[in-house]
Amino acid sequence: MLGLMQDRPLLISSLIEHAATYHPTREIVARTVEGPIHRTNYAEIHRRAKRVANALASLGVGVADRVGTLAWNTHRHFELYFGVSGSGAILHTVNPRLFPEQIEYIVNHAEDKVLFFDIGFAPLVEKLAPALKSVQHYVAMTERANMPAIDVPNLLCYEDLLAEHSDTYDWPELDERAASSLCYTSGTTGNPKGVLYSHRSTVLHSLVACAADAFAVGASTSVLLAVPMFHANAWGMPYAAAMVGAKMVMPGPHLNGQSLYELMRDEGVTVSQAVPTVWLMLFQFLDEHPEIDMKALGLKIIGSGGAASPRSMIERCERDFGVEYLQAWGMTETSPIGTTGRLLPKHAALPKDEQTTIKMKAGRAVWGVGLKIIGDDGQELPHDGRAFGHLHVRGPWIASGYFKHTGGEVLDKDGWFPTGDIGTIDPDGYVQLVDRAKDVIKSGGEWISSIDLENAAIGHPAVHEAAIIAVAHPKWQERPLLLAVKRPGKDVTREELLQYLSERVVKWWVPDDVVFVDQLPHTATGKLLKTKLREDYRNYRLPTA
Ligand code: ADP
Repeated sequence: MLGLMQDRPLLISSLIEHAATYHPTREIVARTVEGPIHRTNYAEIHRRAKRVANALASLGVGVADRVGTLAWNTHRHFELYFGVSGSGAILHTVNPRLFPEQIEYIVNHAEDKVLFFDIGFAPLVEKLAPALKSVQHYVAMTERANMPAIDVPNLLCYEDLLAEHSDTYDWPELDERAASSLCYTSGTTGNPKGVLYSHRSTVLHSLVACAADAFAVGASTSVLLAVPMFHANAWGMPYAAAMVGAKMVMPGPHLNGQSLYELMRDEGVTVSQAVPTVWLMLFQFLDEHPEIDMKALGLKIIGSGGAASPRSMIERCERDFGVEYLQAWGMTETSPIGTTGRLLPKHAALPKDEQTTIKMKAGRAVWGVGLKIIGDDGQELPHDGRAFGHLHVRGPWIASGYFKHTGGEVLDKDGWFPTGDIGTIDPDGYVQLVDRAKDVIKSGGEWISSIDLENAAIGHPAVHEAAIIAVAHPKWQERPLLLAVKRPGKDVTREELLQYLSERVVKWWVPDDVVFVDQLPHTATGKLLKTKLREDYRNYRLPTA
């Protein structure tokens, strides 16, 4: 017997419609590409999203057509989130930090019909345009006065385009399972693969993102969006914020420490999420400005994910900012929230130090997400906090395959998605990531966690950033090599650093050597680019070899 409840589809248009109706004047603030701060609100965003929908129809964009964006976090990108998906087209957020050849590949693969771009990317667009086979219109996201003088076919001005179209539009009642947005993984190995979200997955994911034990987003929240909108839909925050009418604060291309600090200070920011490298940039700025009292701001939650958080980062945020540091784990394929790292009631009385140890883990599954770990023999491993294996995940906002079937069947025989991460799950459900399967170091048949070693190294006061990679070793097959960037004005020797590590990790994990470098390479999503490092140090001769 079926329940007698109304079968209303879960649609992205309902999010912005709700925000415009119940939170019409709640502010959307963006530091624009052009420079000045722009202020608008949900009512205006909704009207402009409808203009976007009408404009797309006039450009011949229909249901399921792909619309690309090459853009930072701004109010215009925000209204495209709703205007494009709400109309039934698919918003394809392209990561502008990818290599131009990769951008060319994914725009062609996605067959984007229209490409919206920030004017800062005009030279890139001009260079790529001859190779972009499907793009029929290029829309510069600016007003007439700032139009770039580039030679691309059918170049349009965003503000003119919106002005030409009406803000009267009825959002179509789509199938909730219809595709809504598309985001390619950075593809450190092989070609990038498209993750295709649906209206249903996006709305369900938003409910979870807002939940009290996730990022606790509500009408009184002011969110600083420091995760790019081209990276897993900025962790779903634009949709979640609209769902509850949270204030949105967007840094545009200005992701430096000073810009983030000023937005936090001036816009009453209470919640902000970013990858750890962004928090490092903020720390660097604050190091140069010891007069700043971060506790004087209204910050409540610093969210972090995408890479492991070192103890020192959690401690500094909680001590100096007076916030709760909340770690989450996920990936483009998981929309991305899979876990969040809130403490449990039984942890309340623990000493701060032990609480931080729990917060360093990658968190526990949120409702809707199933997690299991699988050994090399394909058997499921116990959740005892010790056994580690391949992390598999399932749920209504987890990918079931890639766009156009790239990579073929990806789910395991039971329908779970193999994440490529290796970790443990403890009896309380906290996941501890040991490594990416491809980054783990295999020394004498035993695994060494590069994540743990990097975290330990970053704990040293003179170390700004650290990467551990495997280097070939005649006896142990692989041994860890530490590449470290020193903090400006601070010094440490190889011997001191190795001594420091030997007091913190088991003896056989201590790296065989240290190389100090000026900087480390990062992926387009801000992670350490280990493939490049492994390549660069492939022939490195360890002193122990
Ligand atoms: P990419 O496109 O670079 O793969 P993703 O954001 O999809 O970007 O990357 C997901 C990966 O990031 C995860 O599989 C995991 O390895 C890593 N990751 C995410 N969150 C955490 C975390 N809290 N701690 C450690 N690693 C994390």
